[in-house]
Amino acid sequence: MSKSNGHANGHANGHANGKSTNTRASAPGMNGNAYPITDHEFDVVVVGAGGAGLRAALGAAEAGLKTACVTKVFPTRSHTVAAQGGVAAALGNMGPDDWKWHMYDTVKGADWLGDQDSIEYLCRNAPAAVYELEHYGVPFSRTEDGKIYQRPFGGMTTEFGEGPPAQRTCAAADRTGHAMLHTLYGQALRHNTEFFIEYFAIDLLMDAEGACHGVVALNLDDGTLHTFRAQKTILATGGYGRAYFSCTSAHTCTGDGNAMVLRAGLPLQDMEFVQFHPTGIYGAGVLITEGARGEGGYLTNSEGERFMERYAPHAKDLASRDVVSRSMTIEIREGRGVGKDGDHIYLHLDHLDPKILAERLPGITENAKVFAGVDLRRQPIPVIPTVHYNMGGIPTNYHGEVLTKANGDPDKVVPGLMAVGEAACVSVHGANRLGSNSLIDLVVFGRAAGLRCIETVEKGAKLPRLSSDATDLALSRLDRLRHADGNMTTAALRGRMQRVMQTNCAVFRDGPVLDEGVAKISEIWKDTEDIKVTDRSLIWNTDLVETLEYDNLIAQAVVTVVSAANRKESRGAHAREDYSKRDDVNWMVHTLAFADDRAKSIELDTRPVHTKTLTNEVKYIEPKARVY
Ligand code: FAD
Repeated sequence: MSKSNGHANGHANGHANGKSTNTRASAPGMNGNAYPITDHEFDVVVVGAGGAGLRAALGAAEAGLKTACVTKVFPTRSHTVAAQGGVAAALGNMGPDDWKWHMYDTVKGADWLGDQDSIEYLCRNAPAAVYELEHYGVPFSRTEDGKIYQRPFGGMTTEFGEGPPAQRTCAAADRTGHAMLHTLYGQALRHNTEFFIEYFAIDLLMDAEGACHGVVALNLDDGTLHTFRAQKTILATGGYGRAYFSCTSAHTCTGDGNAMVLRAGLPLQDMEFVQFHPTGIYGAGVLITEGARGEGGYLTNSEGERFMERYAPHAKDLASRDVVSRSMTIEIREGRGVGKDGDHIYLHLDHLDPKILAERLPGITENAKVFAGVDLRRQPIPVIPTVHYNMGGIPTNYHGEVLTKANGDPDKVVPGLMAVGEAACVSVHGANRLGSNSLIDLVVFGRAAGLRCIETVEKGAKLPRLSSDATDLALSRLDRLRHADGNMTTAALRGRMQRVMQTNCAVFRDGPVLDEGVAKISEIWKDTEDIKVTDRSLIWNTDLVETLEYDNLIAQAVVTVVSAANRKESRGAHAREDYSKRDDVNWMVHTLAFADDRAKSIELDTRPVHTKTLTNEVKYIEPKARVY
């Protein structure tokens, strides 16, 4: 990760440093020195200041709960800033729409692996969440009559899949995430959220009974260590796209919260489902939003054919992402790729009115020029499927409470711990997320987590004392990696991991390739014991931070490949050539994966998919073949 330019590090908002602070010394580490630790107490601590973290923090703070937001990058540099196309909600501004149609599309997009109670919660509450954003100040693009502009996006339809595409994705040009993030940061500050900026959370503070009491974090600027104790800890740390070699996500997307959950002995869910976005710029990985196809863009192969008409006769270029990515991969494999190596596809926008490009797609016009050297008014953009989103993550219910499986109960709530955003697996996206359903997930479930805090947190209540060894997990890990003196650099190990993930766990998978992936990634996990860090300081030590991030990534990479090898069917983004059909009898279940970092072993289990809806207003949507 990189240090932000031009922003002050440290606390924003000018508030006292938590309810009470106390500085003490830790037990001596490997180098014999104790670490000075500053203790902070809050009602709620949120880790992460992307769209999800900010919406959760502002909800808790607005209700008068003392709320801290700890973030490794400046809030408006969080990855949400890069989101382009828009945020889905059935407002019906551009034609008929209904949240129940949105629910149907999301269940189908998820290939029936989503929990239907959570999906109902998402789609029912989406319009209110978008109007709330509008009132907070998000500068949405407008229709002629001043309503929020909405564009078509893949998999979004009308009349329960029978009607024409829905115009459901609310957009602020092609910079929707930027607009949302800046607005939410302003609102969170307005409601007195206390920010701890460029603080890197290392691990959770767990007690012997398995309850969470906060986090331990390193202040990157001055090397001091901090505990943030709270009644509720909300992880909003984003996805882990950087486990792969080519991805559209920022270098900071290392799934740190997911890895903390694994180290706390808790499971991650559905990690085999990794979304490839069809249109990453060839060679650079930078995203060209699906909104480009929503505005009329289309794909062609080396014969100039609009091949999506063959694979998805109804939705064509606006079929869901897994379908388009697989179709592109088949075209390339069968020798109809473009370019000198025949290894990519063209995306055309050159037929569109330049005025539309300037108004609705200014960001991608610039990206195409900078990253592909293409003037998209005249030339097609070279594109290739690129890792984009993690459907899997920390299992939660629709209140944002983290779940584990214990004593036969698959929905046991972990006391004190919550998760929202891409880090969480609610699960509304199931086996495949529809475009523009993540930004709405951030604000609907960010808001839900804030509401749950209001219901369950007592303002200013005294926090239980924790034994001093509660910080040991975090401190011993920090100390071990800081003084690591093995034979392999972090960059070398990370490069090996990213290549294995790209080769052995990509768009198409099969048994032998996945088994080889499991063997190779497990070897890299073991080799991590032999890692070397050269900079031993604590102040802006990027070598150490990248090592902590790599250590987080490798555990998730192993869980991803092991879960993929285990799932013997094709569903959503998990397409196996040796098991090409969806198997609802044996596999309509969530995968749960527990990791033992010491033994370097993974244990797999399952959780049932919720087939009940939240209310009687909608019926369970029965599984059927997923065609577009
Ligand atoms: P992030 O925005 O990634 O924020 C994570 C936060 O956690 C950051 O503040 C970071 O500092 C903090 N953090 C992480 N680790 C630590 C740690 N150890 N200590 C302290 N803090 C930590 N979705 C849509 O719905 N519509 C779109 O148009 C769209 N466009 C996209 C375009 C691109 C290029 C990409 C890659 C994704 C897009 N997505 C889109 C997906 C969507 O943007 C993301 O899923 C979403 O923004 C994730 O938000 P988040 O709040 O969960 O996490």
